[in-house]
Amino acid sequence: MKELSIYIHAPFCKSKCNYCSFYSIPLSKLKPVNGWAELEQYPEFLIKEINLEAEKYSLGGSRVNSIYFGGGTPSIMPAGFFSGLINHIRENFEIAEGAEITAEINPESGNLEKLSALKTLGINRLSIGAQSFDVGVLKTAGRIHNKNDIYNAADNAKKAGFKNISLDLIIGLPGQTKDIFYNDAKSILGLEPAHISAYMLSVEKGTKFYEIRKKGEINGTAFTPEEYIAEYYEILCGLLAENGYKRYEISNFAKNGYESRHNLNYWKRGGYLGLGPSASSFLKLENGKELRKTNTADLEKYIRNISKKFYGRENDNSGVIQNNGNFIEILTEKDKINEEIFLSLRTASGINAKRLSELAGREIIDKFIKEGFMQNSKENIILTLKGVLLSSEIFARIMI
Ligand code: SF4
Repeated sequence: MKELSIYIHAPFCKSKCNYCSFYSIPLSKLKPVNGWAELEQYPEFLIKEINLEAEKYSLGGSRVNSIYFGGGTPSIMPAGFFSGLINHIRENFEIAEGAEITAEINPESGNLEKLSALKTLGINRLSIGAQSFDVGVLKTAGRIHNKNDIYNAADNAKKAGFKNISLDLIIGLPGQTKDIFYNDAKSILGLEPAHISAYMLSVEKGTKFYEIRKKGEINGTAFTPEEYIAEYYEILCGLLAENGYKRYEISNFAKNGYESRHNLNYWKRGGYLGLGPSASSFLKLENGKELRKTNTADLEKYIRNISKKFYGRENDNSGVIQNNGNFIEILTEKDKINEEIFLSLRTASGINAKRLSELAGREIIDKFIKEGFMQNSKENIILTLKGVLLSSEIFARIMI
């Protein structure tokens, strides 16, 4: 039996945050009639996509170990969105006993009624996008919540019966001075979540921040220099370790037993099916090949593709092809090795030293150890804190 994780993208947001590079449509951009119909009809296309993919890649009956509703803002979707999809997944696959089922929640939409409904539907993990507790930082980032919304959402999550709660924090938002960041970190700790994700701000093309970064500031607030971001990350790692959180991946920290199974599956190169526009899949095919696929980041194109039962063809040989906005790639042996190296090194357990020597050569490992970027940990090689902070460069240098 195949093992699988499922990611479901909810591509709608109340408004667009200034740093966000995820595919989502602000509700104000949806046309009043067609727009709301799109939102309401969207689950039908996800269900059709499940049917198409299950048939094409013989996935029916697979055991699903985790389901993740991400976005966008899943918490603005009605409860029927979640129940319809969970039921359809249950009809086509076997949802494993105790499977981890996560929904991302934006603080302003984390009301008790919604969260209780999600709990009743079988969702057992919430990821709340706090990002910062500072009113000025949140405003500059284009977030529409305030710190009270975060406290209310976390409180409502507990009242609804959730034990497995994750909070997201962004490191290095404009205006986030060291004192403000320290306060953000302490505020998160005060809520005692089981899991914390902390992402260092990266200004991506296509975001509002990217457009205005050249000016060096946004509405009079300076962007945070990279060396400060690195310093904040180090402060956070220390604080979280003191408070019983283990860093199990570059950006993820958990109390014992609360590591995200869905994310661990990504880093361990387990199979997953991504549904919705911009969602990615990684599938191990029956012919032994491995396929990566990313859906078009365009809702209209996505709906057209699914309606026509067109979602792309893969090349017989290895390589990338683009089909109606969908990218499909059959991995080469070299791709597989590179993925194994950099995905394993992202995790705190790293990669078996002997295996890494076979894949990348002992010489480069010794060099990284000497330079202080890697270290031995029992039989494995892991990144040091210095290595984590320069991980992109390390990965680029070590990949074959
Ligand atoms: S960060 Fe989240 S809430 Fe903000 S636009 Fe992106 S997906 Fe939407």
